[in-house]
Amino acid sequence: MKSINHLIDGEIVAGDSGNTTGVYNPATGEQTGELALASVAEVDAAVASSRAAFEEWSKVSLAGRTKLMYNFRNLIAENADELGALLTAEHGKVLSDSAGEIARAIENIEYACGIAELLKGSYNEAASTGVDVYTVRQPLGVVAGITPFNFPMMVPLWMIPNAVACGNTFVLKPSERDPSAPLLMAELFQKAGFPPGVLNVVQGDKVAVDRLLDHPDIKAASFVGSTPIAKYVHERAVASGKRVQALGGAKNHMVVLPDADIDMAADAAVSAAYGSAGERCMAISVVAAVGSVADPLVDAIKVRMEKLVIGDGTDPDSEMGPLITSDALERVTGYVASATDQGATVVVDGRQQNFDNEGYFIGASLLDNVTTEMDCYRDEIFGPVLSVVRCDTYQDGVDLIKNNPYGNGAAIFTQNGAAARQFQEDADAGMVGINVPVPVPVGYHSFGGWKDSLFGDTTMYGPEGVKFFTKAKVITSRWPDPASSRVDLGFPTNQ
Ligand code: NAD
Repeated sequence: MKSINHLIDGEIVAGDSGNTTGVYNPATGEQTGELALASVAEVDAAVASSRAAFEEWSKVSLAGRTKLMYNFRNLIAENADELGALLTAEHGKVLSDSAGEIARAIENIEYACGIAELLKGSYNEAASTGVDVYTVRQPLGVVAGITPFNFPMMVPLWMIPNAVACGNTFVLKPSERDPSAPLLMAELFQKAGFPPGVLNVVQGDKVAVDRLLDHPDIKAASFVGSTPIAKYVHERAVASGKRVQALGGAKNHMVVLPDADIDMAADAAVSAAYGSAGERCMAISVVAAVGSVADPLVDAIKVRMEKLVIGDGTDPDSEMGPLITSDALERVTGYVASATDQGATVVVDGRQQNFDNEGYFIGASLLDNVTTEMDCYRDEIFGPVLSVVRCDTYQDGVDLIKNNPYGNGAAIFTQNGAAARQFQEDADAGMVGINVPVPVPVGYHSFGGWKDSLFGDTTMYGPEGVKFFTKAKVITSRWPDPASSRVDLGFPTNQ
């Protein structure tokens, strides 16, 4: 069994906290690794290394930073197969999904390769007579990232490229469930030529997270995970004076209008609900079926579910893998059971599907006639369970989204341009899809939800990422003839 360790100051460090946790292959239930969990002293060592590295790194020219970022991008692309295999081995997602995760991660590195353009700032000549005013953006210092299990490569790379390209140094605390891919990513970062300490990785649990949130040398914390922890992280980091963005959980709705193409909507619903076993914060978990569309849509979804191939993610035929842990399996099973008890119609019961191995597998479930009081509607299940809520009107669908505490993504399926345009305006969520079920923004826009899906003021990656990882400085400058100088106690006005 392999030991999975920290990367501190350019070296793999075994750690001596004495605390470890097991890492498992969700497809077999076998323990494959033993992960070191950092002590407060180990977190402090990582922060000290990043603090020291910041002094030099923040002075490296934009050209120098860009060159290394290109190297890093190429190394990730060259090692995509190995990274993908690690993702599948510890997360369970199918290999094609792992490849997709890496491709989206690369988009974020490519965006940061344009850092010279992104940090151009702005300049006003002659804002007042003989006075120029300009804005520059400067790095914050050492920043931290705390990331979830479901995108162990992509989510760290939502943060690191922009943060580092802006001149910050970074301490990453990956999820303890699937730490190997982010660790290899950090080794490739090192290999790309970034100086030691520009990126440190501390493996760990709440002990490491709390120390990062409290540490006086950490200037900003970027978090992605579940809503209760996002809220906690936000409050704790703000209390210690940090800039924080904390992205939380989701309950994403897909409104299907009566004029929608049924086959297209059913394909989209199945792909978006069951891809990655529903363990995506942008998964569709509720279909709001409006009027006459409900019966044919439920039938069309069911037909497609019967053909889904569920199995080990390393099998090229598998379309959906296992859940992450046995706890997750128990939780998802419980939601299907409670839906049955609370009066939902169980059209497809994933619990009935048998698997001939010890992994954390469950079949895909489809629940119809779900109402907003049921547990399966109220909670984020984070598994392969799709709920259908039947609505009389478009407005009922919009109201469902509005009244839901989460606001990550929302989608509409329709052939009516005017209705789609109206939905774009009405949907109470941060990311909206029009005939697109999983509207994850490209790397040059920014990602983030509303309401209980995001705590903080800035969304992640793209232009908002650059903003989050820099502070603006406005310079007012003049070069008058010293002979014209005099004392003037009046408040400066512009002429
Ligand atoms: P999680 O909240 O359990 O863990 C996220 C991180 O927080 C991990 O690094 C973990 O070690 C740490 N953590 C866990 N408990 C903690 C505690 N008590 N104190 C301090 N730190 C703690 O989330 P997860 O199960 O790894 O990931 C799934 C969740 O993430 C889902 O809710 C999903 O919707 C959400 N998610 C959101 C987005 C988004 O962009 N909004 C993206 C991906 C995942």
